[in-house]
Amino acid sequence: MTATIAHFIAGQDHVGTGNRSAEVFNPATGEVSGRVALADPADMEAAIAAAQTAFPAWAATTPLARARVLFKFKHLLEAHADEIALAITREHGKVFSDAKGELTRGLEVVEFACGIPHLVKGEHSMNVGTGVDSWSEYAPLGVVAGITPFNFPCMVPMWMFPIALACGNTFVLKPSERDPTPPMILARLLKEAGLPDGVFNVVHGDKTAVDVLLDDPRVQAVSFVGSTPVAEYIYARGSAAGKRVQALGGAKNHMVIMPDADMDQAVNALLGAGYGSAGERCMAISVAVCVGDAAAEALIAKLKPMVESLRVGPGDTNNPDMGPLVTCQHRDKVKGYIDAGVAEGAQLLVDGRGLKVEGFEEGFYLGGTLFDRVTPEMTIYKEEIFGPVLCIVRVPDFDTACRLINDHEYGNGTAIFTRDGDAARQFCHGIQVGMVGVNVPIPVPMAFHSFGGWKRSLFGPLHMHGTDGVRFHTRLKTVTARWPTGIRAGAEFSMPTMK
Ligand code: NAD
Repeated sequence: MTATIAHFIAGQDHVGTGNRSAEVFNPATGEVSGRVALADPADMEAAIAAAQTAFPAWAATTPLARARVLFKFKHLLEAHADEIALAITREHGKVFSDAKGELTRGLEVVEFACGIPHLVKGEHSMNVGTGVDSWSEYAPLGVVAGITPFNFPCMVPMWMFPIALACGNTFVLKPSERDPTPPMILARLLKEAGLPDGVFNVVHGDKTAVDVLLDDPRVQAVSFVGSTPVAEYIYARGSAAGKRVQALGGAKNHMVIMPDADMDQAVNALLGAGYGSAGERCMAISVAVCVGDAAAEALIAKLKPMVESLRVGPGDTNNPDMGPLVTCQHRDKVKGYIDAGVAEGAQLLVDGRGLKVEGFEEGFYLGGTLFDRVTPEMTIYKEEIFGPVLCIVRVPDFDTACRLINDHEYGNGTAIFTRDGDAARQFCHGIQVGMVGVNVPIPVPMAFHSFGGWKRSLFGPLHMHGTDGVRFHTRLKTVTARWPTGIRAGAEFSMPTMK
C-alpha cells in the first residue's frame, strides 16, 4: 500500500471527495512511490471558498506584517533545504545539487517579496489642481491561482505565490500531478511561518481541477507555466472568463557560437545548458547554431567526447551529471524524437538510446544525445523535445543565425557566444526573444527582474516575478481628493479641468 498525497485546504490536509488518483513514480528506480489525489470540481471549489474567506483579513494585514511571514518562511526554507531538495529529486529525478539550485532560485523570489512594503508604495502628487491631491495605490486582486509544470515543482510555484501573498492576495496552487510532494512541503512551511489558514491552498489534479479555476468567477487571476498548447488554452479560457492571465509556454532555445568565441567556454556552457536536468528545463539550450563550418568542427571535436562521457544515474547518489527523465512515457517520447531525427537525415553523433544504468534498469534513463547537420525543416528542430538532445545547426553567417532564431515559433531564451561586442550588441537588440544571454547560456533573470519569453512562449502582457509580478498581482487605484478649503462654489457642467 502506498500513501495518497492529499490536497491542502484551509490549513489542513484534505482527502477530497473525488475517488480518482494518479501514480507518482521515483524515476530513478521506475517504482511507484505513492499516489496523488486528483481533485473533483467540489475539491477545487472548497479551496477557492477557503481562499475567498481568508482574503479580507489577509488583504487588511499590513504589508510589513505580511512580509514578516515571508521572512520566517525564508528561514524555514533554508532550514529544510535538504528535505525539499530530496523530495524534488525523488519525484522529478533531477540531481540533488540541481534540486538545491532550483530551491535557491525560488527562495530569491521570497527575498524579493519580503521588500513588498516598498514595492506597493504607490505614487502621490500634491496639488494636481488648486487644493486637490491625487495618489495611486496598488490593491490586491482577491483569490488568485497558479498552475505549474513538473520540471520545477518548487521554483515555478515560487515565481508566483510569494509575490501574490505579499501583495495581499490569497492563493490556490494546482501543481503538477507528477511531482506533488515538494509543493506540499512548501504549504506546511508557510503554515509554520504563521500564514493564516486559507491564504495558501494546494489542490492536486488534472484538467478537471484546472477548468474550475479558469471558470470560477471568484478567481481573479491565473498564472500558468507549462507547454504551449495548454498555455494557449489557459489564456483563451481564463481571459474569456474575464480574468487576468499570464501563461508561459514551451521553448526552443538557440545558442549562437560565433567563430571568435572562446570554444572551451562555449562547450562547457552547452554541456550544462543542454544536458543539465536531463534537458527538462524551459531555458535549456536545445539548438547550437554554429556560424561557419570551422566553428562547428571545433565545437564538435571538444563537445562529442564530453557528451559521450556524461555520468547518468539516480540523482540522490554520487551526484551524477544527469538523472532520469520524469516518466517512462516522456522518456519514450524523447526517444521517438531521436528516431525521427535519424529518419529525417540528421547526423547522429552521440546516441543515448541504448543507455542502461547498472542496478537501476527500470529507471527512466536516456543518455546524452548529439545531432549534427540539423536543418530547420526537421521535426527535431521545429518541436520542443524536452530531453537530453542537442541539435547542431550550421549557418554561413551571423545574419542567417539571427533569422533562424527570429523565425522560430518560440522565443523564450537565447544566447550568443562571441568576443565581438558589435555582434553581441546587434544580437541583443535585434533578436525576437524574451531573455538573452551574452556568453551566458541560460540567462534566467534574477528575482528582481522579470521572467518571460516572446512569441508562443508567453501569452499575456506581463512576465513572472520582479516588478511585472507585482503589477500582475495588484490593481491600480487612483484617488483624487479635495477638502472643504479647496471646494469652489457652484456646479460644473463642462469637462472638469484642473486650475
Ligand atoms: P503541461 O503543459 O503538460 O502541464 C502543466 C500544467 O498544466 C500541469 O499542472 C498540468 O496538470 C496542467 N495540464 C496539463 N494538461 C492540461 C489540460 N489539457 N488542461 C488543463 N491543464 C492541463 O507541462 P509539463 O509537461 O508539466 O511541463 C513541461 C512544459 O512546461 C514544457 O513545455 C516546458 O517548456 C514548459 N515550461 C515553460 C516554462 C517557461 O517559463 N516558459 C517554465 C517551465 C516549464
